[in-house]
Amino acid sequence: MIKIDHLSTSYTTIDGPVHVINDVDFEIFDNEIFGIAGESGCGKTTLLKALYDIIEFPLVVDSGKLILSGQKEGKDFSYETGEIRKNWWNNISYVPQAAQSVLNPIVPLKNQFLDSIPKSDRKKETKEQTLKRVGAYLEELSLSSDLLKAYPFQLSGGMRQRVIIALATFMSPNVVLADEPTTALDVVVQRGILMMLMRLQKQLKNTMVIVSHDMGVHYQVTDRMGIMYSGSMIELGKTVDIFEKPIHPYTKMLVGALPRVGDKSQKTGIPGRPPALTNPPPGCRFAPRCPKATNKCKELVPKFREVEQGRYAACHLLNSEVV
Ligand code: SF4
Repeated sequence: MIKIDHLSTSYTTIDGPVHVINDVDFEIFDNEIFGIAGESGCGKTTLLKALYDIIEFPLVVDSGKLILSGQKEGKDFSYETGEIRKNWWNNISYVPQAAQSVLNPIVPLKNQFLDSIPKSDRKKETKEQTLKRVGAYLEELSLSSDLLKAYPFQLSGGMRQRVIIALATFMSPNVVLADEPTTALDVVVQRGILMMLMRLQKQLKNTMVIVSHDMGVHYQVTDRMGIMYSGSMIELGKTVDIFEKPIHPYTKMLVGALPRVGDKSQKTGIPGRPPALTNPPPGCRFAPRCPKATNKCKELVPKFREVEQGRYAACHLLNSEVV
């Protein structure tokens, strides 16, 4: 399980801190695919980086923490912010945004696999034995073991993405974090990557966290999802409920703007833009774009709270209490 415990982070700038994550508090369960959605700049990638413990100056944690806990090889473990990075690859791995460009184009893939697998996992194996294991794993994922002889520049973007996912999952980590795993790929390749992620999650019985601005990705693969807006989590619940019965005005507009088979109505999108994080409005940050905004919304921040079992939202229309 991953517990995100009232986490707030900011970027340090010469004009003062820019708050990018504001008091985000929720849990990601074992053995689920959890999605994080929202427009560009809403903080979803920063949140994923925090989950992978790659918070480095000028990004700082202002308050709160992350706790990664579970069981690996029959042993319980629990790590907090600052300790999670000791478990990279083994317990938690990360597929970064634009992962296709992460591989060094002029180094054969076999060397990149050998460099990434910690010595502790290679035990007393020779390089050839480790590569045999990697080759067998690639075959298991319906990829050719001959790929190990190839250079990344010889592969398509989709194939490089598959190789990165294979690399990230080779050590059967309990948690896999993927940032925009289908961006910049054509729709057919996107589908193949999503199918691969779903298959891997079933096979490894682990937790996957997928960040994507594409609501279609969440609809296809995630079990539960959270919607972020301007650095805050504003709605969270089962994906099916979010799509069928969104409750926060922003989510309603987001879901309402999606094209659906057979629906010929004009789609309008959400008017306006998210506020600049350097100068956000007081109260609810969605108020300048919200058709339901009242004076109260413009003054008081709505609290993120459970409004139905397992369903959370931050909106004065749903909450009786405000902070
Ligand atoms: Fe709209 Fe007010 Fe709810 Fe914010 S709190 S989403 S402005 S109704």
